[in-house]
Amino acid sequence: MAYTINVQKCLKCGICVKGCPEGAIVVVDQVTEPDGLVLYTTRIDEMKCTDCGVCVSEEWWCPAQAITKADTTEKVHTV
Ligand code: SF4
Ligand code: SF4
Repeated sequence: MAYTINVQKCLKCGICVKGCPEGAIVVVDQVTEPDGLVLYTTRIDEMKCTDCGVCVSEEWWCPAQAITKADTTEKVHTV
């Protein structure tokens, strides 16, 4: 099952990279702002994702609720 990170909502905090128990969420780009804040662009590796559902569950650790499961009602755009 495909899980998607909604780039419109994502804050680029990078929390999901450590939060995914399978290591299926990976950093694809990282930018350091002038003030030192590091912004992470992440994506979900479908080959590693085991459909555990943690990233969309009540144990949710995404502060922006930017991760959705593909068969939910919310429509998301991917790049
Ligand atoms: S469903 Fe589970 S394995 Fe897949 S991205 Fe979410 S937390 Fe990681
Ligand atoms: S935890 Fe959520 S807001 Fe933070 S980088 Fe991951 S998807 Fe984006």
